[in-house]
Amino acid sequence: MKNVFLIKYGELAIKGKNRHLFENKLVTNVKRNLKDVGEFVVTKEQGRIMVEPVDSEAIDVQTVLDRLGRIFGIVGIAYGLKEDEVSLEAVKRLALVQMKDVCKEGEQITFKVDTRRADKRFPMTSMEVSCEIGGYLLDEFGDQVKVDVRHPEVTLQVELRNHTYVYINTYKGAGGMPYGTNGKATLLLSGGIDSPVAGWMIAKRGVEVDAVYFHAPPYTSERAKQKVVDLAKKVAMYTGKMKLHVVNFTDIQLKIYERCPHEELTIIMRRIMMYIAEAIAAKNGSMALITGESIGQVASQTMHSLVVTNNAATMPVFRPLIGFDKEEIVQIAKRIDTFETSIQPFEDCCTIFVAKHPETKPKLDYIKKSEALLDDIIEEMMQKAIDEVEIYEC
Ligand code: ATP
Ligand code: MG
Repeated sequence: MKNVFLIKYGELAIKGKNRHLFENKLVTNVKRNLKDVGEFVVTKEQGRIMVEPVDSEAIDVQTVLDRLGRIFGIVGIAYGLKEDEVSLEAVKRLALVQMKDVCKEGEQITFKVDTRRADKRFPMTSMEVSCEIGGYLLDEFGDQVKVDVRHPEVTLQVELRNHTYVYINTYKGAGGMPYGTNGKATLLLSGGIDSPVAGWMIAKRGVEVDAVYFHAPPYTSERAKQKVVDLAKKVAMYTGKMKLHVVNFTDIQLKIYERCPHEELTIIMRRIMMYIAEAIAAKNGSMALITGESIGQVASQTMHSLVVTNNAATMPVFRPLIGFDKEEIVQIAKRIDTFETSIQPFEDCCTIFVAKHPETKPKLDYIKKSEALLDDIIEEMMQKAIDEVEIYEC
């Protein structure tokens, strides 16, 4: 008898020719996310991934559940028991132990048995196995248990595959698609609440995500940069890793400040961020950009501003939060544990150079004219910023 984590994934979503690719990616991601919490044997078994601790005494179950619960593509995780042989006797042994775990002295619980039979050669039907095990448990536990097939307090799950598995609880997985099965995109990651959530949402769809942060020392401090590194690490708790490119943006910002109309600073800065992010993205094999923008949230995110910013990019720009209210974004940020880091009070480069009355209805022609005031120097400055990018493996 061994302990085992059973991983359930969205079989429907990954039918067809991608199935093997997805399953293998999921196995890789499971191994990677568990690397530092213990030693495990990870195997595929007929539509499940099984994770067996080499020494179940040496692991913390809750930590493993928490790690598995962050892996995209997993819909449910159960922690249960396994016997190598497939037989009714094996089911009984496991069922007895599992039920002892949930039965308390002097209390009656209602239960039912639910059986899945992947190996149809097994000589009994699923229903017959469930009835047989239900009867067996009634004999063993007497008054302590009662069958209720409609609303049982405990559902004992039996799975007959290449081996026998019995478990009670299934925990909800992160959903989505296995990370790394759907191309790559580059996230513009600031220290705010929105962009880490936006990156997480795209990563959840299986897209590999790396990040770019625009840093403006000494106007933005080392601590502000560290905060972004910390946020990348938080998102990496789901993706396994995240490569962060830190761009030194100070000289460019000062030049914009010096030469362009002040009410247009933010929008011009945004457009130049897009140019640079796109160049870094292309260099790294990314096919799209991601931002945390949401219509109307601030002056630089009015419809007009978004259209002008968007025009600077030739790659598709994914804005998964576009229709979200701040409160909805905050809720996700709390759930994925980026919120506390995001609200640490460090200045960001946009707030420092912000105008008193920023343009809220910029016109592309006008902005392009203002941007042209940088024509003689901007190419060279952008190239320098790209060449001098600092990389953090988070
Ligand atoms: P966030 O909470 O993500 O910072 P925000 O509400 O503060 O968003 P803005 O500051 O207008 O909004 O930024 C809009 C988007 O532009 C951000 O979500 C992010 O994708 C990108 N962005 C802004 N500042 C930076 C920066 N310094 N480095 C990288 N990306 C940035
Ligand atoms: Mg911000």
